[in-house]
Amino acid sequence: MEEKDKKYLLNMIKDRPQSLCKMCGDCCRVVTTKYTYQELLEKQKQGDSSAIDFLSVFVPFETIEDAKKESSEIVENILKRTPQKLEDITFYKCKYLRDDNKCGDYENRPLLCRLNPFSAWSIVPPNCGFQGWLEEQKQQKINEIKHQKDNLKELNELLKIAQNQNQIDEINKRIEKINDILKYYEKYGSNEW
Ligand code: SF4
Ligand code: SF4
Repeated sequence: MEEKDKKYLLNMIKDRPQSLCKMCGDCCRVVTTKYTYQELLEKQKQGDSSAIDFLSVFVPFETIEDAKKESSEIVENILKRTPQKLEDITFYKCKYLRDDNKCGDYENRPLLCRLNPFSAWSIVPPNCGFQGWLEEQKQQKINEIKHQKDNLKELNELLKIAQNQNQIDEINKRIEKINDILKYYEKYGSNEW
């Protein structure tokens, strides 16, 4: 996981109202990732900490039909919202989820469980208590990015009338910082905002 991602994720959970969790266990019941199962195994072999964490608790369903038997509602929700092709998707269930929906290894659960839901763009199960909050977070972030785009325009104008090299360097530094932020959010569609 990139340092920037970690920072973003840790910031997210800092302000996350944990009381919104209904402890339904659905986010441990049927999940998927943006990687194929083969890619995950490859990443695990290469020492990728996120893949290692994920595969230490999640076990793949043999087929999508098997995952649907666990919860067709969650499967359909993911299929509706993921950009992945059907043939690339594998669903997983955590081996520690107990029948009472509680975690069977709570003290040792990996970082990915502690951070869930990862971002405002996480696909959470239908009826997840965080749904409304995530939507608010998403809108806030979109507004923030729009504001940064306005700042970028202003800085580019300022660059045209900068008086000396110090001013040019300072403006360029700020432009670079904003471009980094915009680049980071491209994966969520920031080019369209
Ligand atoms: S699906 Fe949402 S409400 Fe249910 S346990 Fe997971 S985070 Fe909590
Ligand atoms: S380890 Fe616990 S919290 Fe993490 S997915 Fe499994 S049951 Fe859920």
